[in-house]
Formats: sequence, structure tokens, C-alpha cells
Amino acid sequence: MTLAPNVYDAEPIPEAARAEIDQLLKSGDLFRYTAPEDAPVSLLEAEFAEMMGAKYALAVASCSAALFLSLKALALPRDAKVLIPAFTFAAVPSAVVHADCKPVLVDVQDNYRVDMADFEAKLAGDIKAVIISHMRGHTSDMDAIMALCDAAGVPVIEDAAHSLGTQWHGRKIGTIGKIGCFSFQSYKMLNAGEGGILITDDADLIARAVIMSGAYEHNWKKHKAPHGDNTSALQDAFARWQNQLPLYNTRLSNLSAAVIRPQLGELERRVNDGLKNHDYVADKLNQSPWIDVPPPLSAETRAPDSIQFNLVGMSDTDTVAFQEAAKVRGVSVQVFGMSTDNARAFWNWHFIDGQGELPQTRAMLMRACDTRLPVRLQKPDLDFIADALVAAAQDVKTGSSKTSAA
Ligand SMILES: *Cc1c(COP(=O)(O)O)cnc(C)c1O
Repeated sequence: MTLAPNVYDAEPIPEAARAEIDQLLKSGDLFRYTAPEDAPVSLLEAEFAEMMGAKYALAVASCSAALFLSLKALALPRDAKVLIPAFTFAAVPSAVVHADCKPVLVDVQDNYRVDMADFEAKLAGDIKAVIISHMRGHTSDMDAIMALCDAAGVPVIEDAAHSLGTQWHGRKIGTIGKIGCFSFQSYKMLNAGEGGILITDDADLIARAVIMSGAYEHNWKKHKAPHGDNTSALQDAFARWQNQLPLYNTRLSNLSAAVIRPQLGELERRVNDGLKNHDYVADKLNQSPWIDVPPPLSAETRAPDSIQFNLVGMSDTDTVAFQEAAKVRGVSVQVFGMSTDNARAFWNWHFIDGQGELPQTRAMLMRACDTRLPVRLQKPDLDFIADALVAAAQDVKTGSSKTSAA
């Protein structure tokens, strides 16, 4: 009998991290600004920017901090309206509130992507910035979003926390908007426990974000200019903002950078394995008449480490029963809208003003299932998960395979 795969354990951190961490423990040099140059955090920023093809990167304490600093770097006026998808993690409206702005929720379709008709209508309502959360790595129509936002002169921040490695027409997600933000929290593609990074090509934005992240006095001098860049754009921007901005001190530690850097070389493999695993399970799930895995958009090459699917022809009672039946069969499924206090259900965000009903997003959340699919899983694990989910739906709708669950 195959045991239910453990979907919570992370991959081990590459062995190469050990020597660097050992060195840091010996020297005690954990603060990014102690060394005169080439601290692990600075090297991570340079390597990440180069990998993404972006000019500048700033590593910070979390993706939430990156989103907050992005909004602050845009110098939005107090109470500026920021458009965000109604399907995202609670940290996103939280970052907007933290930046003294007002989140406006845009409806999401049952394929987890922004509803472009609602987006266009709401963008016209005095929106000052847009955050697109590529939630669970699902990419919304970035061509349409950028065309509308460029025409309206509204900056786009990409929340690519869970989308590192995804491509749109072959372009890296996170490099399409003005700023891209990523997470190094343990459930993301690169795992440091905690951490985040933002990227941009805009010297003024990065200078503002760097200073506000906690580069007090002249610590900004330790931020590297892009490789081969011999203009003074970055230095000029830092000089312009010296002493002009508050310090929010949300930096990354050298220890975290030492954990992340050796994982950069693993990313391509993780992305390839994750996509292969996802599509294998998706094909099996789509055999079930009661399960639908929405296809990617045509421009999108995904980088999933989990799978989302919708239950079809199931009532609320069936949906709860499906979750239970999957659990009995050893697979944990979360229906976003069904679990108490789910942080991805917009009606639980009581800290923001009422947003109206958003019935389309609500209906999606009541049937959309979330199952972890770590990229390290092997074919027997994938078969176990897919077969359990298909059988669980069968249990609920026909009762026919109930006995085989024992
Ligand atoms: C994980 C996640 C975040 C928050 O990232 P942290 O680094 O934990 O702050 C934000 N948005 C999305 C879409 C996420 O998946």
C-alpha cells in the first residue's frame, strides 16, 4: 500500500549554504550593511536582478514588505485607491492599508484570473495604482491589463510572491509591471523561511524603496548599480532622496540571503518539475466529471507548486463531503471559501471597508479547491493524490467507491 505523500516538508536547503552560514556564524556578520561591500544580501540582489533581467533588486523581510514599499515608493497620496484582485492573500489588502491607501477589489473569474470587464470598469474610478496578484501562480491577462493601465497612466505592481518562474509570452512574470514583488516564505519556490524581494528598472523607485527599507545615512552606497551600468542614474536618485523619507526598517538578514543564494541554481529544475507534476495530475483530475482544472491562458507558461481545481455539479454539502472524503483518503484539500477564517476569502478581511458583494468571486471561492503539490513529489505520490481526489468526488456523487476507502 502506498502511504499518503507528505506535502508539507520542504526540499532540503542545498549543501552549499552550509559553508557560507558557518562563515557568518564565525564572524557574527549578520547585518547587511556591516561589511564594506559584497554582503550576502547585496550579492543576492545582484544575482536575482540578473536572473530576472531587471536593473535593480531590493531584498527585504517579506513579500508583504516589498508590496508596502512599492506603494510607498510610488509616492501615492494618502487614501489613494489601489485596485487589487478579490482573490488574493490577506497580506495584499493589508499592505495597501499599511501604506495608507484604500484597496478596491476587482472580481475574479472561475479560472482564478482577474475579470477584465470589472477591471476596466473599476480602473476608471480614480484608481492610482494596481496590484496584480498572480494568485497561486495563475496569470491574469497581462496584455489587456498593461494596455489599460498604460493608457490611464496607472502604475502596475506585480505580486509575484507565488509566481517565480512563470512566463507570459516568454517574458518573466514580475518584469512586466513597473515593480515585481516575490516571496521567500517556505511555501514558495525559493525558501528562506521568510523574506522577499522587489525588482524594477526605475532608478528613482528603487532609490526610494532602498532608503525606506532602512538604508539609513549613506548605507545606500552599498547597493550595487546594475552590471555594466556606468550612468549615474542610481547615485543621482539616492542623492535626491537623502533625508527625505521615513525609514521602515524591513531589511533582510545575511543569514537568509545565504540560505537563498544556492537555491537560485535550483529554480529551473523546480519550475520544470512543478509544471510537469501539475499537468500530470491535472490530466487525471480532468477525467472526473465532477472536477475541472482550468487551463492556463495561451500566453502563459506556469510554474506551479500546488494545484487548484473547481468542483462541478456539487452543492455546499457535497463540497464539504468531498473535503472529508479526500481527507479519509489521505489528501488534504482546502476549499478557499469553506474553511473558517480563510485568509484568501475576501469576506474575512474585516479590516478594509465594505466592498459590495462580488458574487462571481464568492461563487468561485465556494467551489475552488487547493491542494499542495510540492515539486519534489514523484509519480507514485502524484498518482496517489490524483486517484484519491477522483475517488473522493466519486464517493460523494455516487457513493460507489466508498467501500474501497477503508
Ligand atoms: C505568500 C504570498 C504573499 C505574502 O508573502 P510573504 O513573503 O509571506 O509576505 C503575498 N501574495 C501572494 C499571492 C502570496 O502567495
